[in-house]
Amino acid sequence: MDSSQLRKQIAELLAKRARLEKELLQFRYTLVKGSLHLRYMECSYSGCKCKRGQKHGPFYYMSSKPDGSSGRTLHRYIGKTIQTQLAKGLSRYKSFQDRIHQMHKLDQKLSTLWNTFRDSLLDNTLLYNKEEKKERTVKKGERDSRS
Ligand SMILES: [Zn+2]
Repeated sequence: MDSSQLRKQIAELLAKRARLEKELLQFRYTLVKGSLHLRYMECSYSGCKCKRGQKHGPFYYMSSKPDGSSGRTLHRYIGKTIQTQLAKGLSRYKSFQDRIHQMHKLDQKLSTLWNTFRDSLLDNTLLYNKEEKKERTVKKGERDSRS
């Protein structure tokens, strides 16, 4: 890939990154960390329909990991219905997180491209400049004539 293609590609990724940053800055409302799960349960009554396969539910549960991934996942019972505010908070958290993840991927790509771009500008032939070569040949010639 030549450097003009690389420039174009890098500029595109930077624009994409800037868009994501702009979107993240526009988050104004509460986020709720966690993910939602539905569960069906059996109760403790022996004659209940749930013992014949018709389980109770669905009930909403939320699971979340406390900060630092070493912590245990916490499960919290929400109820038969979920509050709109909570649902919105959870979905906002998810889309915030998605954008951060996308930015991270872009940064990795960009890092590779910056290196490739730098290398496309390298010219190692300058290390072997002709003046030096000539000089070396002359010196060698002098020495040859002396001996
Ligand atoms: Zn039951």
